Amino acid sequence: RERQRLDKVLAHMGFGTRKEIKKLVKEKRVRVNGELANDPGLHVLPGRDHIEVDGEPVEYRQYIYIMLNKPQGFLSATEDRFAQVVVDLLPPEYRAFHPFPVGRLDKDAEGLLLLTNDGKLAHQLLSPKKRVPKTYFAVVCGMVTETDVEAFRHGVILNDGYRTMPGELKILRSGPESEVELTIYEGKYHQVKRMFQSVGKKVTYLKRIAMGPLMLDEPLKPGEYRELTEEEISRLR
Ligand code: URA
Repeated sequence: RERQRLDKVLAHMGFGTRKEIKKLVKEKRVRVNGELANDPGLHVLPGRDHIEVDGEPVEYRQYIYIMLNKPQGFLSATEDRFAQVVVDLLPPEYRAFHPFPVGRLDKDAEGLLLLTNDGKLAHQLLSPKKRVPKTYFAVVCGMVTETDVEAFRHGVILNDGYRTMPGELKILRSGPESEVELTIYEGKYHQVKRMFQSVGKKVTYLKRIAMGPLMLDEPLKPGEYRELTEEEISRLR
């Protein structure tokens, strides 16, 4: 690890803006290795130097991993000029880590969205070569049948001519309005909606319930989130 400015490290750990941290230092509330810090620009080794704010040790960590149940109406992005974005749902302590969504869910879709600042892990999960399974619950207008299950198992041609890899479709309820679960191993733009479009049906509700080894927590309501456990993080790698 490299040496970093004290104010940068504290900002990363959610202690406020650089300006607010300068004030903390000025008020003699910050200690490094037991010594009063008198310069916010002091260079420290995060994780090695012992930093305290108001006598409380600052637990340093570089990465954050959050499971969010994305609500409808939010963009899977870190910022947007007009729309609300998913990171707006997180408290400042988490936003200080600059997490970003791993992949995208449509604005009108809900469910499991992983947010992290670990670029390497994100890249792995999104790499088409890794074929990370993603499972969706969908409500579909029209009768979903075994013919569709078979079609998805073979791969279907999307409206841009792309032929999908095999997907696993499970019919939960078949009727004028059907309920299904679909697992796919890639992530083309609007893929689930376009797969149903290719068999003449329209998705009216879409929720991601699993990604790789992660399942969306049942009790997590739309807009709610939690940090992943160490065990979950290691299973994702
Ligand atoms: N497929 C879609 O159509 N939309 C999503 O948000 C995810 C998968």
